[in-house]
Amino acid sequence: MMKVPFVSFEYMHQPIKMEILQAFEDFYDSNWFVLGKKVKNFEEEYANFNNVHKCVGVSNGLDALHIALKTLGIGEGDEVIVPTNTYIATWLSVTYVGATPVPVEPNIDTYNIDVTKIEMAITSKTRAIMPVHLFGQACEMEAIMSIAKKYNLFVIEDNAQAQGASFKNKITGSFGDINGTSFYPGKNLGALGDAGAVTTNNLKLAEKATILRNYGSAKKYYNELVGFNMRLDECQAAFLSVKLKHLEEWIKQRQQIAGWYNEVLRGIGDLVLPNVHPQSTHVYHLYVIRTKQRDALQKYLEEQGIGTLIHYPIPPHMQEAYKDLGYKKGDFPIAEELAKSSLSLPMWPGIIREQVNYIAKTISLFYESD
Ligand SMILES: *Cc1c(COP(=O)(O)O)cnc(C)c1O
Repeated sequence: MMKVPFVSFEYMHQPIKMEILQAFEDFYDSNWFVLGKKVKNFEEEYANFNNVHKCVGVSNGLDALHIALKTLGIGEGDEVIVPTNTYIATWLSVTYVGATPVPVEPNIDTYNIDVTKIEMAITSKTRAIMPVHLFGQACEMEAIMSIAKKYNLFVIEDNAQAQGASFKNKITGSFGDINGTSFYPGKNLGALGDAGAVTTNNLKLAEKATILRNYGSAKKYYNELVGFNMRLDECQAAFLSVKLKHLEEWIKQRQQIAGWYNEVLRGIGDLVLPNVHPQSTHVYHLYVIRTKQRDALQKYLEEQGIGTLIHYPIPPHMQEAYKDLGYKKGDFPIAEELAKSSLSLPMWPGIIREQVNYIAKTISLFYESD
């Protein structure tokens, strides 16, 4: 039996081990552990990669979104439009600043926020739209930006899953007023621990975000804002600089693996494969399929040595944490349907064709024995 884990870092990390150790040694010997040259360098490199004027390194993706909202002055009494199917972090960031997340259902083909349903959710309290480029596919940003313009709303992209994706050749994380991304180890660009960043083309917003992440202080012991301690670690920045050089190549591999999956899984059972909007690119943070027999298939694959996960088993509106918002089962049927039918297959740079073939063969056997 072949074994295919849901995720593996081996292939990415082994070849760069010496470079990472060197980066650690430089960091160690520099005797500068917080907000030094390595954070600054990485911020410049990532801003360059993301085609924005400024990147502000922060502690993680959730903090990046929190800082982005805080920087825009969104707070108590405000509403922010969020997708119904996303990781709960998107919603939490809105809750943290005292605003209310207003959920909008996804498009059933792309799983990204349905741009035809956004206007219905706008009220006099709406201040911003937070699109999430889910699983690595860019949202329909042209429509989102024009709705935002029409209603005078901010846009904050949650780009945690889609570093390097684009809509009409413009890279995600460069559309919104101020955007957040995550370098959680399993993300397409992962640190060796927690890390994240804010990206923006607006120098004033970048400056405010920089102050907010460091106790609201630009000058030591002078605090102009009620800020946070949400700094990007100096050593994580050093590691990220090493890994960023390989991101494009790793994305290409993810796309190649997705191509193999599309080829070998097409037509099997009731599987629904990922659909990509003709003007979006997909960087396949996750390769998500759908089937009515999701739980049985997941169990079968597990028994055959194939690791899978569910993104996400419970939509935010059904979470205990959000019971105060008063939503009930059936309020957002598309998100609930996706939670029941979605299954993420192994997706990491280094998967070989034989492994993809084995997964496809195993899935075929599952449907045959059915
Ligand atoms: C991972 C993720 C986050 C949060 O990132 P952390 O670094 O884990 O805080 C936010 N939004 C989405 C869509 C994510 O996938």
